[in-house]
Amino acid sequence: MTNTSAPPKALGAARVLSYAVVDSCAFQGSSLFVDGVPLGPVPCLAVTQAFGTAEVALLRCNVEWRFLGVSAHESVEAARACAEREYPGSSALWRDISYSEQESKGFREESWGDLRCSFCGRSPDHFEALVSSASGASICNECLAELGAAST
Ligand SMILES: [Zn+2]
Repeated sequence: MTNTSAPPKALGAARVLSYAVVDSCAFQGSSLFVDGVPLGPVPCLAVTQAFGTAEVALLRCNVEWRFLGVSAHESVEAARACAEREYPGSSALWRDISYSEQESKGFREESWGDLRCSFCGRSPDHFEALVSSASGASICNECLAELGAAST
């Protein structure tokens, strides 16, 4: 067994509901294709729910919980069933995580840090582009558009 720590409270814009370390399971092949190539075995799986929605996804992750492939599912059970087909025995390995959506969002906000606009404080899910200056200040496309509108 790889000594893998629990995943972060949030992966992308989603809350982690449960995870499984599946490096002891015999990989049966993945239905997922990444860049036209079937995804190979991964050590870690996570079931997530996107913030503010009922969308459930099964994430295939490396030991650092970077996701390598994702599939969408109707329910947690469906996601786990998909995992069970690819990694037989994995259904016994799931561990539930009890972070609230609020905690997960808070974690994501903290981890953004420097990715916020220095002027309006918008986070990456609220702007399309961020320009950083050498001095370390960052400005988002929304603020740039407002500045442009104000100067004409
Ligand atoms: Zn801004």
